[in-house]
Amino acid sequence: MKGWEQNIRRVIPYTPGEQPDCPNMIKLNTNENPYPPGPGVVRALETLDTDRLRLYPDPAASCLVRALARRYGLGEDQVFVGVGSDDVLAMCFLTFFNSNRPILFPDISYSFYPVWAELFGVPYETPALDENFCIRKEDYFRENGGIIFPNPNAPTSLLLESGDVEEIVARNPDVIVIVDEAYIDFAEGPSALELLEKFDNLLVVQTFSKSRSMCGMRIGYAAGSPELIRCLNDVKYSFNSYTMSLPALELGVASVEDEAYFQGTIEKIKATRKRSLRALRELGFFCPEPSANFIFASHPDCPAKELFEELKKEQIYVRYFPKPRIDNYLRITIGTDAQMDALLEALGRLLSQRKQ
Ligand SMILES: *Cc1c(COP(=O)(O)O)cnc(C)c1O
Repeated sequence: MKGWEQNIRRVIPYTPGEQPDCPNMIKLNTNENPYPPGPGVVRALETLDTDRLRLYPDPAASCLVRALARRYGLGEDQVFVGVGSDDVLAMCFLTFFNSNRPILFPDISYSFYPVWAELFGVPYETPALDENFCIRKEDYFRENGGIIFPNPNAPTSLLLESGDVEEIVARNPDVIVIVDEAYIDFAEGPSALELLEKFDNLLVVQTFSKSRSMCGMRIGYAAGSPELIRCLNDVKYSFNSYTMSLPALELGVASVEDEAYFQGTIEKIKATRKRSLRALRELGFFCPEPSANFIFASHPDCPAKELFEELKKEQIYVRYFPKPRIDNYLRITIGTDAQMDALLEALGRLLSQRKQ
């Protein structure tokens, strides 16, 4: 072994979903939004003053912070923005999870959490979801160094009731509780944002990637007490002052300003989710009640891995996780009605061929 090899930080990285590049594929594997960003976003891109690209962008991302603060009824000192919520969450791990006690997150949840914990040397424990894939709030009532969970959870799509979220935050006044709300806009329940008035140890993280159709722009944000936001900014400025590019700032503001388009897209996806869920259940799939822009589905007669591979041959991409407890499930992103019809047709055919 060479001397320098001992000085290298070695990690097992997060594996993002495939981004295949085929013209006719149906891509339902990374929870992207099937609809384009709104007309205001397109206009902002087309009229972007490229001469301004000479200059560094505003390090405080003030215009976007202001737009989000106004939209969600928060103070400007209560909002932090980053390069997608992955960047925001990484900053949160670095800033808030510095205890010798283990942080807690569910055994089945966003698979980036253990990667950040390993990278930053944060001890962690992963309480098991119950047999229905629900978070057991009692598991989070013990001593810990911080808590994080997605709500709705990924990849199960299940929503934890807001009363239970509140109880977890209230029972943990000495640590930071982070609620990762990447999918909350697709849920019927309220966001934990409304709990911010009551708790200064709560941080709510959301993203433009899913409900705002802007994965490619990389915009995420956190909302919390001014004290928490100040600490996050201190870490950010110790790392990279200019996280938000000029296009990200301008297009982000345009998206926030177009509330009607945003709501319209969400309603369409919810309607497609409703009929897709019914059709999947009619095909014999078991699906927990979905609150996100995806459905978690398992079939009693056919291994998920086989369906995953057969669908892929037809250029229909869904997500499969070869992990304990969930290795017989597919995570299917809600696409357009036409995309879901193609998926349902293929699944129906594959299942009936298998019976013969
Ligand atoms: C998609 C997702 C994110 C990250 O999204 P960004 O594109 O980085 O904003 C964070 N948490 C969960 C649970 C997600 O599913």
